[in-house]
Amino acid sequence: MGIFLIAVGEVEIKVIETLKYDLNRAFEKQVLVGKGIPRPDYAFNKKRNQYLSTAILKAMTERKEYAIYEKILGIIDDDLYVPKLNFVFGEASRRAAIISLTRLRNEFYKLPEDKSLFRKRVLTEAVHELGHTYGLGHCRNLRCVMFFSNSLIDTDMKGSNFCQKCKSSLTLQPPR
Ligand SMILES: [Zn+2]
Ligand SMILES: [Zn+2]
Repeated sequence: MGIFLIAVGEVEIKVIETLKYDLNRAFEKQVLVGKGIPRPDYAFNKKRNQYLSTAILKAMTERKEYAIYEKILGIIDDDLYVPKLNFVFGEASRRAAIISLTRLRNEFYKLPEDKSLFRKRVLTEAVHELGHTYGLGHCRNLRCVMFFSNSLIDTDMKGSNFCQKCKSSLTLQPPR
């Protein structure tokens, strides 16, 4: 039951604990932090210096100890990709989602650190990917968390809230 947060490789525990608190408020569902999984070497692409998110999602979904959870959200502090895209902030399947912290930090763009902005971005990306696991597609509303973000400008503009339309289809989803 509920949403299960796990670290993929090494992730600062404070980031996970904060996200747990924020997600609990966003979804009004039980959010638990579980034992993480090791650095996913099988997903690493040496040429790109990035991890293939699809491979990590598959590994997460196949783990038996996670089977009792409604949704699993992995957090990784390395850059993610899927073929044909330079990078992705995250990816989702029906039951599992993953987000990367790398490009959510100002420092990645040589800008001064901003902890509250980072926290907001982590929540936005987490809610977006979890929204997909609950069956939501991309939304055309720029202010909706389900808007597709191609850059941090989009992420910062949309924020972590669902628009009315997405919110109502989210609550209509039958529990899986
Ligand atoms: Zn999306
Ligand atoms: Zn929407």
